[in-house]
Amino acid sequence: MSVTVTFLGAAGTVTGSCYLVSDGKTSLLVDCGIFQGEREWREKNWEPPRFLPADISAVLLTHAHIDHIGMLPRYHRFGLKAPVYCSPATAELTKLLLVDSGSLQEEEANFRAKHKRSRHDPPLPLYTQRDAADSLELLRPTPVGTPLQITDSIVATWTPMGHILGACSIALDIGGKRIVFSGDIGRYGEPILVDPMPAQLGDLLVMESTYGDRVHPLVDTEEMLAEVVTGTAKHGGMVLIPSFAVGRTQTLLYHLRELKKAKRIPDIPVIVDSPMALDATDIYRRHIDEYDAESKGLLNSGFHPFTLPKLYFIRERAESIALNSIDEPMILISASGMLSGGRVLHHLKNRVSDPRNTVLFVGFQPPGSRGYWLKKGNGTIRILGEDIPVRARIAEISGLSAHADRNELMRWARSCVGTPGKVAIVHGESESAQSFAGDLKREFGWNVIIPTYGETVEV
Ligand SMILES: [Zn+2]
Repeated sequence: MSVTVTFLGAAGTVTGSCYLVSDGKTSLLVDCGIFQGEREWREKNWEPPRFLPADISAVLLTHAHIDHIGMLPRYHRFGLKAPVYCSPATAELTKLLLVDSGSLQEEEANFRAKHKRSRHDPPLPLYTQRDAADSLELLRPTPVGTPLQITDSIVATWTPMGHILGACSIALDIGGKRIVFSGDIGRYGEPILVDPMPAQLGDLLVMESTYGDRVHPLVDTEEMLAEVVTGTAKHGGMVLIPSFAVGRTQTLLYHLRELKKAKRIPDIPVIVDSPMALDATDIYRRHIDEYDAESKGLLNSGFHPFTLPKLYFIRERAESIALNSIDEPMILISASGMLSGGRVLHHLKNRVSDPRNTVLFVGFQPPGSRGYWLKKGNGTIRILGEDIPVRARIAEISGLSAHADRNELMRWARSCVGTPGKVAIVHGESESAQSFAGDLKREFGWNVIIPTYGETVEV
């Protein structure tokens, strides 16, 4: 029986992860992501699906990032009825992120309606918050590490990959073949989650290569965080950290807890102003089964990795606005991480002109983004329709990525058991995928391909 994989996303680009696997009888999807970034790719979100959603027998998710789950509500509306299997933490994060995604889609459609920037009249959201909520009924959380019988001849097994909470690789046994989907691969030696775990390879390995041609700088995160916080607090200022709500915020809380415990920073308030970060932190708190030995050790000695003195979460908008009147040293963490929207914009507008303050970036700021211009130091920054003078210190901790770099990708490949019949490199820009494919061929002599968008590969 021939088994095929069609690359419906994350091929030729880093987003829109989606693979259609078929054994001739049964078709299933691995990941169901949305395209982000360049317009040419984003427009593909609007195209009719290249398969009949009603014909799909199962969807398997590697993790809850929106470029791996973001099309579920749309496909559900187009007739997808299949169970969506994923790890228990991925199911919880998916609920949180999809509903948020629906509300962002509606906001964007409203924005386009106001500014008359749409081909549709009136502008439509890709899906609504309601669509997103409706699609959640398909979710079937499944235990990690236990093979799941999907049909008589199809079995899937999830293995932790340390990328974000719940993130796993998926080994799919179908029609006598084994296909391993790496999903996004995490870092080694990072706090909170276990390191990426080896997979038992088979006929095809579908492997990500986001940082396939780069090595993360060696940075002592706690040292830099301590320097920024202590220096800013000494002058009576506050540290504003734009941060992703899921993953990055919890990592920051972990480091801040360590620093406070060691008295390397003053005991000033740490305020997380993001309802999503609050919900995500609750989910992180509950899934202690996914913690590494260090975080489990902390728990055993009576401490929680995300519990620190003077930590406050803000949910209500009124409380968020009330923060404006606080003029004392504090650390304020707020989304979005790229300053593309969210409450952090109001805080930035309110704080960036005060030379006592610091804006601290802890994530990549793509060229052309607001964060990019702020880092370049232009003197003013446009926020919510106004040009605001920039007098605060702008600082950055680089290298805080949830993605394995080139060396860590190789380390994971080396750790796996067996030789893959074929390797398909995905989830990387062209240079990164090419360079990493070359490295795999040189070191392991593997048969490596780089599929193009829409290409079908026989396993
Ligand atoms: Zn991811």
